[in-house]
Amino acid sequence: TPPLLSVRDLTVAFRVRGEDAPVVRDLSFDLHEGETLGIVGESGCGKSMTALALMGLVPNPPGRIASGSIRLGDEELVAAAEARLRRVRGARISMVFQEPMTSLNPVFTVGEQIAETARAHLGLSAREARDRAVEMLRLVGIPAPERRVGDYPHQLSGGMRQRVMIAIALVCEPQVLIADEPTTALDVTVQAQIFDLFRELQDRMNTAVILITHDIGVVAEMTDRVMVMYAGRKVEEGPAADFVAAPRHPYARGLVNCVPRLVADPPDVPEPLFEIPGLVPGAEALARPGCAFAPRCPRAMPVCGREFPPVTASPGGRSVACWLDAEGAR
Ligand code: SF4
Ligand code: MG
Repeated sequence: TPPLLSVRDLTVAFRVRGEDAPVVRDLSFDLHEGETLGIVGESGCGKSMTALALMGLVPNPPGRIASGSIRLGDEELVAAAEARLRRVRGARISMVFQEPMTSLNPVFTVGEQIAETARAHLGLSAREARDRAVEMLRLVGIPAPERRVGDYPHQLSGGMRQRVMIAIALVCEPQVLIADEPTTALDVTVQAQIFDLFRELQDRMNTAVILITHDIGVVAEMTDRVMVMYAGRKVEEGPAADFVAAPRHPYARGLVNCVPRLVADPPDVPEPLFEIPGLVPGAEALARPGCAFAPRCPRAMPVCGREFPPVTASPGGRSVACWLDAEGAR
């Protein structure tokens, strides 16, 4: 079956002091119906920016999609008009953010916020939208939803607010749900409940999920396939179980084996150049030719600093971009 979502050669650039800096580079991947894809990497690797690109929400200016294609079904999203994107966003692709308190509007009840999304996209009447809000609160496991629908965000716990965010994201039964570190702010027990909820809703709706995380435990437990990003590029991809058992890329090995530091002091610890902390990699890492990981890599070779490694694919849907794996490695 053809993929539901197909991203090809996506490059997102930010213009800073007159220079274009690519924060996501030549990124290609597919997502199939019902599948869960993990995107892993440390803060600033481009994973959140990839999510924003899929949502049509790259802050412009200073950012823009410089090239590439994002196809959802048979619709191309990169060139689509904003009006068209607004109809896709929330209805066919939606997103759950990390911090529910900043994503929910404090002056509206949670019921109003769910209902608003339902009205905007599904054309429901006020009454129908409110009923739908109650139904969604019940679906995401909020007790006494008829009463809670009238609550304001501050009246709910962090875990309940995250459930409300999921309710908003799922109210239109999107084909793709993007979750960016959705449980980072929550304690471990609530985290587990939220992930159970994800699985249950995904089974019920056959939603494809893109789960952005830095937590390998979450990858192992929740995802079918994983993609590792470093300095805006995909450096490894494969089935989650194979990946966790035997990561190939030196950076990915470091992540999985929880090596706290690969070399004593990474010389390229990203200097915050951009105004969006955590979203974009350091300028140095981006500007460097060759493999951006080279300064931190225990196995770097001379070629690594000169040329970005070709992508080597192996059976079972695995691929890695590293000179160690490339044919004819010097
Ligand atoms: Fe290390 Fe070279 Fe592979 Fe980059 S390409 S991860 S520097 S061995
Ligand atoms: Mg992020």
